[in-house]
Amino acid sequence: MKYYIGVDIGGTNIAVGVVDENFDIKCKGSIKTNAPRSAESICDDIAGLCKSLCEKNGIDYGDILGVGVASPGIIKDGVVVFASNLQFDNVPLKAMLEARTGKKCAVCNDANAAALAEYVAGAGKGYHSLVAVTIGTGVGGGIVLEGKIWEGFNGAGAEIGHIVTVPGGRLCTCGNRGCLETYCSATALINDTKEAMINNPDSKLWEICGHTDNVTGKSAYDAAEMGDEVAKNVIKKFIKYLSIGVANIITLLQPEVVCIGGGMSAEGETLIAPLDKLVKESGVIRSLSKRPKIRAAGLFNDAGIVGAAAEVIAED
Ligand SMILES: [Zn+2]
Repeated sequence: MKYYIGVDIGGTNIAVGVVDENFDIKCKGSIKTNAPRSAESICDDIAGLCKSLCEKNGIDYGDILGVGVASPGIIKDGVVVFASNLQFDNVPLKAMLEARTGKKCAVCNDANAAALAEYVAGAGKGYHSLVAVTIGTGVGGGIVLEGKIWEGFNGAGAEIGHIVTVPGGRLCTCGNRGCLETYCSATALINDTKEAMINNPDSKLWEICGHTDNVTGKSAYDAAEMGDEVAKNVIKKFIKYLSIGVANIITLLQPEVVCIGGGMSAEGETLIAPLDKLVKESGVIRSLSKRPKIRAAGLFNDAGIVGAAAEVIAED
């Protein structure tokens, strides 16, 4: 059996896992990111964790064939060109980690890693093309075509969250207006749920949350399950906008699988079924007999580890 290590650098935690050639995670561990701190210090800790994880789990570190790293930000040729939450600016992460781990390393963007993970071991396993839409604080994405991540010639592609969905709409952090993520991120859902509560004092959302401060991305779903029409409308709008984004992706690429990931994907069919129906009803794909499959992500929190490992396996 061949072993690889996948490293997922998040804003809060750095997760490290040993993955075999079938993408099964053999063991994993994590440390606090404690950002911002120097890239040197973060790399020292990652290399240390890689070694200690193997030691603790009876895996010979000498058997590790490569280390893949998923990092936030814009990555080009192993360099983190820019990552705002890590405060990385032109950090040669690949070279720094190769020096510390003694292994061949590969670095890719975390959203791309998540898409690659779903392609090799999750919702897209066995298919040839997949687009992942990850719904979290923002909306991220990744495109995998015939086993390769498509990130644009400059590394700035697959910014699905910034597809303009409503011209002149809500102001986005990117400076544009009406981007998908201003309507379809968990942040947007929470804000819309709060607004609906304030406008509807009789909504069951008040029973569930007590106060607008307690609203989560799940609150509207919980209230809708209790039959609350206000919450149902919040979700309906959320899915409507998401369907516009997904329909645009499909119109452009016709991938075999569109995978919806992030915390929201835990809603499963409650989210996927109405989304699929709306996408089916929209535009050019109506007349096609072979349609892309819309699926919930299968890997959840491990996608970064598996995708990072898959990136280094692909280069092996
Ligand atoms: Zn934007």
